[in-house]
Amino acid sequence: MSTYKNFTVDTDADGIALVTWNMPDKSMNVFTVEVMDEIEAIVDATVADSTVKGVVFTSGKSSFSGGADLTMIKGMFSMLEAEKIKDPANAVQKLFDAAGRMTWLWRKIETNGKPWVSAINGTCMGGAFELSLACHGRIASNAKSVKIALPEVKVGIFPGAGGTQRVPRLANAQDALQMMTTGSSLTASRAKAMNLVHQVVEPDQLIPAAKQMIKDGLKPVAPWDEKGFKVPGGGIWTPAAAQLWPAASAILRRETAGNYPAALAILKCVYEGLQVPFDTGLRIEQRYFTQVVQTTEAFSMIRSLFVSMQELGKGARRPAGQPKTQLKHVGVVGAGFMGASIAYVTAAAGIPVTLIDRDMDAASKGKTHSEGLVAGAISKGKLTKEDGEKLLSLITPSDDYDTLSTADLVIEAVFEDRDVKKVVIEKVEAVLPEGAIFASNTSTLPITGLAGNSKRPVDFIGIHFFSPVEKMMLTEVILGKQTGDKALAVALDYVAAIKKTPIVVNDTRGFFVNRCVLRYMAESYDMLIEGVPPVMIENAAKFAGMPVGPLSLNDEVAIDLSLKILKATVADLGEKAVDPRHMELVSRLVEKEERFGRKNGKGFYDYPPKPAKKSLWPGLKDLYPQKAPEDVSMKTLQQRFLATIALEAARTVEEGIVTDPREADVGSILGFGFAPYTGGALSYIDGMGVKTFVELCEKLAATYGPHFKPTPLLREMAEKGETFYGRFDPYGQIDKAA
Ligand code: NAD
Repeated sequence: MSTYKNFTVDTDADGIALVTWNMPDKSMNVFTVEVMDEIEAIVDATVADSTVKGVVFTSGKSSFSGGADLTMIKGMFSMLEAEKIKDPANAVQKLFDAAGRMTWLWRKIETNGKPWVSAINGTCMGGAFELSLACHGRIASNAKSVKIALPEVKVGIFPGAGGTQRVPRLANAQDALQMMTTGSSLTASRAKAMNLVHQVVEPDQLIPAAKQMIKDGLKPVAPWDEKGFKVPGGGIWTPAAAQLWPAASAILRRETAGNYPAALAILKCVYEGLQVPFDTGLRIEQRYFTQVVQTTEAFSMIRSLFVSMQELGKGARRPAGQPKTQLKHVGVVGAGFMGASIAYVTAAAGIPVTLIDRDMDAASKGKTHSEGLVAGAISKGKLTKEDGEKLLSLITPSDDYDTLSTADLVIEAVFEDRDVKKVVIEKVEAVLPEGAIFASNTSTLPITGLAGNSKRPVDFIGIHFFSPVEKMMLTEVILGKQTGDKALAVALDYVAAIKKTPIVVNDTRGFFVNRCVLRYMAESYDMLIEGVPPVMIENAAKFAGMPVGPLSLNDEVAIDLSLKILKATVADLGEKAVDPRHMELVSRLVEKEERFGRKNGKGFYDYPPKPAKKSLWPGLKDLYPQKAPEDVSMKTLQQRFLATIALEAARTVEEGIVTDPREADVGSILGFGFAPYTGGALSYIDGMGVKTFVELCEKLAATYGPHFKPTPLLREMAEKGETFYGRFDPYGQIDKAA
C-alpha cells in the first residue's frame, strides 16, 4: 500500500478502502496541488487494485474540508500574471487548464468504475462538496457542525469543479441557483431534502453506513451517465422553466445590480449546461470560470475577502515577540447599549466578564441584554440550555471597581464625554493590576487625548466596536501616540478570541471607518442640496454596491448624532471644518422638524408602525428645488459615492493613519459594506488604476467641489504608475520588518 502525506487508505476485509483525509500541520483540510496529486494517485491505485470493491472518502479532522487553499488560489493569479507577460494567449490557455484540473479529476472519480461514497462528518465547503457530488453516494452526519455550502460567489468566483452542473441535475434549477448565487450554508437535513445527500445518520454511524451503501450494491454510475436521464423539473424547455428563468435574471439584477460577474456566470452555467450533455456542461463551466477568474472583481474580492481577511484574523498586524495572552478576566465599564453587547460577545467566547455601571441596577440591566439574546438563541435551537446558562454565568454585573483587580483587560464604554471617561480611567487604573490593558470604545475622541488621563499610556489603546456588536465582524484597534506593543498584542488576542476581524489604525478624528462613513453621508447631503431626488440618491448608492443608502444609514446612526458631530467638529477645528450648508440641513431636520432618525420614527424616512414599510419623508423634496430625474446621471451619482469614500481612504494612507492597504480594504467592506465587488476602498482605486481614478476625481472636482481634488500622493502615484498594494506592499513591509 502506498503511503500518502495527506491521506491514509485502509482496506477492510470486504474490500472497501477507507480514504481518510487528514493533512498534517493544518487544522482544516484544504485543497493544494499536492492533495490533488494524491487523490489522483488514490483513484489510480484503487482502480488498479482488484481487491478494492469501493471507496469511502472521509476526513480525519472535526470538519470535512474548507475547500481550496489560499496559496493555491494566490498561485493561480501569480501564474496568470507571469504568463501574461511572457505570452498572453498561452496564459489564458494555462489558466483554463489549471481551472479544469479539479473538474476533470472529480469526473475521473465519477467514472472510475468503482463506487465512491463521501462520508461528510463536518463543514464541507466549495471544492470539497464538489468532490462529494462526484461520488456515487453521499452520507452526512447529523452533527450540528455539518454545514454544506458552495460559497465561492462570496469571494468573487463560483463553483468551478462541476458544482454548477451537478447541483441542478440532483436538486432543481431554482434551488441550485439559490444555493450557489447566495453561497449560503445548508444543514445536512436540508441537503438531503434537496437530494444533494442520500442519507443523514448519527455521527458514529457515518462510516458503517457509508460502507453499507457499497455493500448494498451502490452503482458506480452518476444519474446523468445513465441512459434516459432527465433533469429534475424537466430542464430548460418546460413551462416551469419559462417562469423561472426570466424571474431568476430579474432577481439577480435586483440583488447584484450587475456588479458581480460570478453570480451572473452561475446563471449562465446552469442555463446553458442543462441543455447539453454533462461533459459539455463541465466544459462550459470551465470556460466561464476561466473568464471570471480574470475579472478585476474576482481578483480584488479574493484578495480582500479571502486572503487579507484570513491574514488579519490570524494576527497579521500582531507585533512580533509578544507572548499570546489567554484572557482570564475582562472588565467592561458602562453597561449601556455598547457595553452590554461587548460583555455578551466576550462571554460567548468563554471569557469571564465583570460588567460595571454606576449602580447595580444599571449593571444588571446590561446583563439583561445577554439574557434576552441567550433566550432567543435557545428558542431557535442555536444554543443548548446548558451552554446558555454557562454563558450567562460568565457575566457578573457589579458597581464595584475593586472587582477589576484581577482583570487582564478593561474596556470602557461609558458616555461619550471626556470628563466622564477621565473619571472612569482614573478609577479603573487605581485597581487595575500592573501590565493589564485599558481600552476605550470611544467612537469620536482621539485615543492619545484620552490616554492623557492615564498614568500608563503605554498600556492604553482603542478598541472600537461597531453596532450591532453581535453581528458586526469588524473591530478597529486604535494606537495612541504612546500605545505599546503589549497593549496591541493583548487587544488583537482579545479580538481574535471573540472571533472578529481587526484592523489596526493610528489615531485620528473618526479613526478610519467613521471618517469614510461621514464622507458617504456628506456626499448625500450635497446631492440633496443640489436638488437630486432623494429616491435617486438612495438607489444610486445601492446600484454602486452599497448595502444601505446614505440617507437610510444616517437614520440608523441618528441625525441628532450627526448634528452633535458637526457641532463638535466646529468647536474643535473651527467653522471652516464644516460645510455650512450641511450644518443648515442637519440642524433644520433635528431642531426644526424634530427628525432624529429611526429612533423617533422620523428621519430622512418616515417609519410607520409595522407591518407598513418605511418610506422617504415627502417633505424632503420641499427643502430644495428639485431637479428633473432625467437631468441627473445615475452613473455619476454612483461614482461620487465610491470616489468620495475611496479618496478619504487614500487620505488616511497619506496621513499614515492606515499603513496597510489590506486594512483599508477589509475595514471598508466589513465596517460599512463598501461595494464588496471592488475588494474595498483602495482596491477600487487600484482596480481602475490610480491614473484613471485621478482623472475621475478631477472631473468630479470640477463640478461637485474641491473635496474631490486628488491628493498629492495620488497624483504622484498616478505619475509613477503605482498601485496601493505595490507602493504599500503589506508583504514587503512584513519582510522588511522580519
Ligand atoms: P449608552 O449611553 O447606551 O451607555 C453608556 C453607559 O455608561 C450607561 O449605561 C451609563 O450608565 C454608563 N456610565 C456613565 N458614566 C459611568 C460611570 N462613571 N461609571 C460607570 N458607568 C457609567 O452609550 P453607548 O451608545 O453604549 O456608547 C458608549 C460608548 O461607546 C461611547 O463612547 C460611544 O461613543 C461608543 N460607541 C458607541 C457606538 C454606538 O453605536 N452607540 C458605536 C461605537 C462606539
